[in-house]
Amino acid sequence: MKLLEGKTAIVTGASRGIGKGIARKLAEHGADVAFTYRSSQKAALELEHELQALGVKAKAYRSDASDYEQAQQLTEAVLKEFGKVDILVNNAGITRDNLLLRMSEEDFDEVIRVNLKSVFNMTKAVVRPMMKQRAGSIINIGSVVGIRGNAGQANYAASKAGIIGFSKSVAQELGSRNIRCNVVAPGFIETEMTARLDEKVLEEWKKQIPLRRTGTPEDVAHACLFLASDWSAYITGQVLVVDGGMVM
Ligand code: NAP
Repeated sequence: MKLLEGKTAIVTGASRGIGKGIARKLAEHGADVAFTYRSSQKAALELEHELQALGVKAKAYRSDASDYEQAQQLTEAVLKEFGKVDILVNNAGITRDNLLLRMSEEDFDEVIRVNLKSVFNMTKAVVRPMMKQRAGSIINIGSVVGIRGNAGQANYAASKAGIIGFSKSVAQELGSRNIRCNVVAPGFIETEMTARLDEKVLEEWKKQIPLRRTGTPEDVAHACLFLASDWSAYITGQVLVVDGGMVM
């Protein structure tokens, strides 16, 4: 059974990792998918072809989610090409890890800009068309780190905690227009982002996971599929943690 037939989705940062898994899952369920990347053009075009082969409309856009103007232009281009936006998944994100004592102002600002301001930029861009449709599902990718903090990630934790406050506010403002806004907070998911982590740190994290395994992009994508679909029609302002039970 396909859950998203007739829907159009925007997924930011889908050239790799979790975003790619989400774009795939939404397309498998019949959604037309517009997705963005920052620099991985080859990977993005490969995914575009892969999604088109599933029989949906799909297009890759090079667009920096942290840039307000680019986010507006992207949304205009998608509306022109696809006609509407029903689902927005704000997934683009980066890390610039360091202990606070060594964290530079640039690394703090950049993580807030890419992870948090991007969510404002894109949400702002889609809100008017969604209000006109009187329907929409906005899914913001947070992190368990935004809930419990993490040594060496004060900038990242602040950006992800900010996403939760932002999403709950949007859910309250736009619920009356049938626009829902939820957060998916992944735990430890194996992607290029986590591949940079030290082996020892990895092993320590795994020990803390009740399900005793790291997550996959598909694990996160399944949660997004649910929140994108009408099966979650009465769910808004929530944080859905996808972490094998690590944080409870
Ligand atoms: P990843 O493998 O590093 O992929 C990041 C993706 O975001 C890439 O497609 C990248 O595009 C894109 N991107 C980065 N900056 C961008 C920008 N300014 N504008 C547009 N796209 C941009 O990361 P990931 O592990 O899949 O993480 C995806 C999301 O999940 C992030 O928000 C992350 O914080 C969150 N998350 C991840 C984990 C985990 O364990 N992996 C856990 C919790 C939360 P290019 O390829 O062009 O650079």
